[in-house]
Amino acid sequence: MYLKSIELSGFKSFAKKNAFEFNSSISAIVGPNGSGKSNVAEAFRFVLGEQSIKSMRGKRGEDLIWNGATSEPRSNRASVKVVFDNSQKIFDIDFPEVTIERVVHRDGLNEYLINGSTVRLKDILELLARAHIGASGHHIISQGEADKILNANPKDRKSMVEDALGLKLYQYKRLESERKLSKTFENISQVEALRKEIAPHLKFLKKQVEKIEKTESERQELVTMAKEYFAAEDFYISFNRVAILDERKPVDRALEKLSKESEEAKKVIELESGLSVARKHKDELTREMGKIEGLLIAEEKIIENEKRLIASDEFKTVRLKEVENLLEEVSVMQVITEIIGRLKDFITERKRQTDSKLITESEARIIELKKQIEDIEKSLKKATEKELEIGEAEKAVFRIMSEENGLISELNLLKAREERLNLEEREFKRELEEVGHLVGPEVLRFKSVENKATSREIQEERKRNIQKLKIRLEDSSIAGMEEVTKEYKDTSERDEFLARELLDLDQSAKTLAELIKELETRLSLEFASGLESINKSFEKLFTIMFGGGDASLILVKDSSKRSNPEEDLEGEAEEMEEGLDIKISLPKKKIRGLMMLSGGERALTSIALIFAISQVNPPPFIILDETDAALDESNSKKYGDMIESLSKVSQLLLITHNRETMSRAGVIYGVTMGRAGVSSLL
Ligand code: ATP
Repeated sequence: MYLKSIELSGFKSFAKKNAFEFNSSISAIVGPNGSGKSNVAEAFRFVLGEQSIKSMRGKRGEDLIWNGATSEPRSNRASVKVVFDNSQKIFDIDFPEVTIERVVHRDGLNEYLINGSTVRLKDILELLARAHIGASGHHIISQGEADKILNANPKDRKSMVEDALGLKLYQYKRLESERKLSKTFENISQVEALRKEIAPHLKFLKKQVEKIEKTESERQELVTMAKEYFAAEDFYISFNRVAILDERKPVDRALEKLSKESEEAKKVIELESGLSVARKHKDELTREMGKIEGLLIAEEKIIENEKRLIASDEFKTVRLKEVENLLEEVSVMQVITEIIGRLKDFITERKRQTDSKLITESEARIIELKKQIEDIEKSLKKATEKELEIGEAEKAVFRIMSEENGLISELNLLKAREERLNLEEREFKRELEEVGHLVGPEVLRFKSVENKATSREIQEERKRNIQKLKIRLEDSSIAGMEEVTKEYKDTSERDEFLARELLDLDQSAKTLAELIKELETRLSLEFASGLESINKSFEKLFTIMFGGGDASLILVKDSSKRSNPEEDLEGEAEEMEEGLDIKISLPKKKIRGLMMLSGGERALTSIALIFAISQVNPPPFIILDETDAALDESNSKKYGDMIESLSKVSQLLLITHNRETMSRAGVIYGVTMGRAGVSSLL
């Protein structure tokens, strides 16, 4: 026995708390009309999660709450609590007893509890479905509902059978999966639309980023290349500056030395003017000496002549006689007397001079001249010596000048090199600034690169390559690189996320489709085998009830009850919905269809079918509200037999006025209603 008790409090006519204990496999509730018996069956529907108020004979939730009477004020809430034994684990919950409670408030608010903990309706329905219990299930046959299964259309009948077979859980799962699948397809198209939307932007950003990456790699390449170039250039400039300085030092020293030498030599050369004076003087003296020597010779000749004249009287007489003869010739003339006198004076003087005085003067003169010549020769000798010295000095000056010229041209070369180096350094600094501006300060750390001598050809080659790269970089620079890169990163991450999402969605769509297929297979297999078992029992029970005949449920295709008629217009081939038809034949009677049965026959047929269905997959309990109302005495007995056999598989709660039925019950609850309209138990 699974059903232990039910407690009603403020529910419909049960204004106060009333509890029914079900410790027998068959319990009966009896009482006069309108005492509240059916309210108990509805209390079961209510607590098991029924959402249709109409099926509980109400319009709103508050219709289920005790409405009040003069002696008993109305309740604000109705609650029903049902207790199950779970020692055999009919519920998938780890408690030996399961209490399910539902409360409805006047504002229509519902509360659901499992073992005192608030839960969702869904949790209750799932828990019950596993135990083949449903709110509006087949196991609660309300008053007048006995032939509901006979009156139902094939599709609804099939649904009732599926419910009874415990296939609702699979159907619920299938519906849930289909709903999820359709939601998944919706999501797939949404995600695809989103991806489509961002695709062109992403493509554009990708191109930009590729450009940026290329630029960045070129920038890096330029940094590396420039650092090598600048390191080598820096080395070259420093090295050459030191080299030029080193080379200049000896040249400067040599020039300084030459300058001193030159000064000295020039001082000597300045004496050259004195030398030319000496030379002139020497020439004059030489000429003078020649003249003097001539004079000397002449003087000596005179002296010699004079000496000879003096020594020779004849010569002296002749000459004087000549003068005397001349005087005798001119004496005649008066005028000449004076001349004669003067001549006589001359002759006297001449006679006086022709002595040794003349000779002495000449000789003195000669001595003087000789002395002068000697002095001149001395001066000349000195001048000649000086001339040699000056010559040497002049030679030295020439040598110095030529050496100086050599050194100066060497110095000029060095200066030219220095100047070129200065130019190169300025160029180096300019390039460094330019490249630094283009690629950032990283390049300024070129000293981190190993310094080594590099040929100018290689440097030129590097310079050209740097130039080319610089132009490329300047051309390919993109505004707002960081923003573009970040946007690309964000967008591609979003796209990747969407792609993953799409994969996941595809995968879950696949899984759901497989699950649906699996559930459908299972449903159809279990339904087929369940139907077979139902038909066996139905046939058997029907034969017992009617003492013969045939009865079976037949699977039919029904297109008349389309839930969505538009599908028919769209569908290429009309999809038929499956349903169940009831086929019966009574012994000794020719009847065609259920419509031709009497009320009692209908009741027996439906009871046989309900019992057959219940026996295949027995629910823990069955409630039958006056299903026996239309039975005559003999059929009541048959009904009672069937109840007893059914009670072996399911606990039964019978609401009845039938004494035969009452006699089969282990416990009978009497329900009465006092003047206040309050139901109470006996
Ligand atoms: P029968 O034997 O004729 O089928 P019954 O014993 O099954 O009768 P119920 O149909 O269960 O009787 O009870 C109906 C009674 O419950 C009515 O008298 C009705 O007034 C009362 N009732 C229904 N709803 C409420 C409510 N919300 N508050 C008070 N009484 C209510």
